[in-house]
Amino acid sequence: MDKQNLLSFNQNALNNFFMDLGEKPYRTKQIMHWIYKVHELDFDKMLNLSKPLREKLSELACIKLPKIIKQNFALDGVIKWVLAMGEDNHIEMVYIPEKDRGTLCISSQVGCALACSFCSTGMQGFNKNLTTAEIIAQVLIASQYLNAKSKRISNVVFMGMGEPLLNEQAVYNACDLLLDDLAFGLSRRKVTISTSGVVPAMKRMSERTPVSLAVSLHAPDDHLRDELVPINQKYSIEALLKVCKLYLHAGTQERHILFEYVMLKDVNDSTEQANKLAKLLKGISAKVNLIPFNPFAQSQYQTSSAQTIEKFQDILSEQGIRTMTRRTRGEDIDGACGQLAGKVLDKTKRAYVRRH
Ligand code: SAH
Ligand code: SF4
Repeated sequence: MDKQNLLSFNQNALNNFFMDLGEKPYRTKQIMHWIYKVHELDFDKMLNLSKPLREKLSELACIKLPKIIKQNFALDGVIKWVLAMGEDNHIEMVYIPEKDRGTLCISSQVGCALACSFCSTGMQGFNKNLTTAEIIAQVLIASQYLNAKSKRISNVVFMGMGEPLLNEQAVYNACDLLLDDLAFGLSRRKVTISTSGVVPAMKRMSERTPVSLAVSLHAPDDHLRDELVPINQKYSIEALLKVCKLYLHAGTQERHILFEYVMLKDVNDSTEQANKLAKLLKGISAKVNLIPFNPFAQSQYQTSSAQTIEKFQDILSEQGIRTMTRRTRGEDIDGACGQLAGKVLDKTKRAYVRRH
């Protein structure tokens, strides 16, 4: 039988695991302290656990991190890791430092089945879902490295490779650990799931986890969105906005949604489209993030000009929609969005940052 990787277990699952071993619940606290606070992954060194328990753990369980294939440093401080997730399955994560925070952009799948027409991951197709352990290991590897440099991760975003809401259980369990004070202890506002609009899963998400939601909208009408984000053919903009409202009203705390909108020259960047978008989002507690398109090999689009993006932003802002433009970062190490297209082993990905 395969050993169970303890990084896959949230606090509840660890409680059950220790209960099944006939151990007391405080073992959960002890092991989480070793893993997430001390970054000690060797059972033999966890000296407040009894020797028989350490032996039992070594027999039944493991705490395994993926192999680091590459680590690159950009001139602007962005760091990119390429990690091996099983044979020939590589993913990437990116750390984006800013003055007042450090954002880690992580992956939820190897590849993606949703085939958005402007996305390099979509072009590569779907390979596999990551496990909770493989998702959490990304954050642990980055924390280990950054803590040693006195840097920290203040935000985690599921904006790397894959569609997180097509890998729900693994992503939700990972969110539990990101929010848990015994693990990463981030606030719900600092963890963001970005989705292209898997409507039924968004409903479940709104009930299952309090983390923040980003929605990849990219077009103000169904005709164009059907083309750019093919899942729109299944779940229309109307259905998408309906579930967004449900998310906003679920739970007791105030919620907002971030709408992502990739700026594609002469495709979705006209004044008319900006006005249409403003009308669509009126009355929704939302922010819009304009993302300059990052071209990649074989991509059929071009980035809108800075002037066009500014005008688009102004139209939205004038109509009361809070709008920012995301700045591309880490370009010199292929850390920016879409820059890794075509490199089979380097499947993905992107680094973005919001402009204040
Ligand atoms: N699958 C999820 C999360 C990963 S993609 C989603 O689609 O939301 C993260 C963001 O990067 C999404 O908003 C996506 O539309 C955007 N993106 C993908 N390819 C891009 C490119 N070439 N240039 C700019 N943004 C891109
Ligand atoms: Fe998948 Fe998101 Fe890329 Fe669309 S944009 S193909 S959903 S990773």
